[in-house]
Amino acid sequence: MNKISIKIGVLFFLAIFILECILMVFLHNNIIHSRVHEELTSLQTRGNNHREILEASFHDETIRHIAIMEARTDTQVILTKPDGTIYMSSNRVTDDMKTIMKAVPKPIPHEGFILENDWKNKAYIASVSPVIIDDHFTGYVFMFQNTEKIKEMISGLNQHFLIAGLLSLLFMIIIIITLTRYVTQPLIQMSEATKRISKGDFSVSLPKLGKDEMGELGESIKVLASDLEMLKNERNEFLASISHELRTPLTYIKGYADIARRQETIGEDRDKYLGIIFEETGKLSKLVKELFNLAKMDENTFSIEKEKVHLRPYFQSIIEKVTPALKENHMDLVLECSVDLYMFLDPIRFEQVILNLIDNARKYSEPNSKIRVEVRNISGRVHMKIQDEGMGIPGEDLPRIFERFYRVDKSRTRALGGTGLGLSIVKQLVEAHGGTIKVTSKPNNGTAFEMIL
Ligand code: ADP
Repeated sequence: MNKISIKIGVLFFLAIFILECILMVFLHNNIIHSRVHEELTSLQTRGNNHREILEASFHDETIRHIAIMEARTDTQVILTKPDGTIYMSSNRVTDDMKTIMKAVPKPIPHEGFILENDWKNKAYIASVSPVIIDDHFTGYVFMFQNTEKIKEMISGLNQHFLIAGLLSLLFMIIIIITLTRYVTQPLIQMSEATKRISKGDFSVSLPKLGKDEMGELGESIKVLASDLEMLKNERNEFLASISHELRTPLTYIKGYADIARRQETIGEDRDKYLGIIFEETGKLSKLVKELFNLAKMDENTFSIEKEKVHLRPYFQSIIEKVTPALKENHMDLVLECSVDLYMFLDPIRFEQVILNLIDNARKYSEPNSKIRVEVRNISGRVHMKIQDEGMGIPGEDLPRIFERFYRVDKSRTRALGGTGLGLSIVKQLVEAHGGTIKVTSKPNNGTAFEMIL
């Protein structure tokens, strides 16, 4: 048994137990009351019957018959004169009876009167009926019944109640245990599942729990487990990729530094090696900078400060920055953007998006090709398209292009100075601006990145 079952079980038990006790006491009192009432009325009716016989014929013979009749039952009849002197009694008259007989009320109703009903404390219950013959008050018929019999009957009743109470208690406990098991079982399974998840075991198997809140909770735990597993795998892959990415330039740097420091290396070669070392260090610092940016984005410490930006001059100033690199490759860039177009964005962070995309278009295109940058307002949203005529991206690589460290042609892009992080940074920045980015490409036919903001 676990804590929650015990808690719910005890609560159930207490609630039902209290309810049952109240009902039992109520029922018990009612039954006793009506049984005693029955005894009293039957005693009184019996007295009234004797009285009616006597009113019809008040003779010694009749009186004797009544006495004989009554002597054979567990009740006792006493017939007295109006002043209380006893005519006849079916059995011995005890002192208790005499005391009770003194309490006859005056006037006494013809249908009789219950003289004593305290069955708990007194030896007898009693009734009295007046005998009136021709409007003349002739005497009293007293009826007595020993309370022992009533007490016996009631103790029998109590025993039945006790057995019924114990049986229902037993059933109640069995039902509560079964019900609590049924109710708490899924909770316990879920708590065990979350414990396993926290220990790194993501293979949660929870049975179908229906469509209620419990079922929803179970589903959420399953989703959580698979999300966590994915995150963990992603993190491991990411760390593996980072160390791999760092190792390559470091190996170059170490190797060339080793050759360069040798005595026999001639000045010309040394300069070449130092040049390579310088280049590789540049790549390393670019990689570290981009990693740092990504880490900041992941932590959400990255804030986007939007301001109103006129898009045409904004794009022109960015293009100016890349013009020397484009000139070097004999490439052309065409900007298509109407003068009045503006939107709210973070100019510094968004510049990185555009620079990355234009730089990719340059890196993965042949010299003398063209890059088109189109900025349009289509039904209230700004569409930006950066299109090149370069080598394109094979269809199977397209879905993974925004993943960290994903590169189509690893050796080639590394040689071009790519880190494989550029597009994942672009995507995160665009999404931080509330926008979307998609790519369309055909190998050898160029690539287009389209952002909608
Ligand atoms: P990298 O720093 O290697 O350019 P990115 O994340 O920017 O990393 O790009 C990921 C990969 O997508 C690149 O290695 C390249 O293979 C491919 N790619 C990106 N842009 C283009 C493009 N305009 N034309 C062809 N391939 C591209």
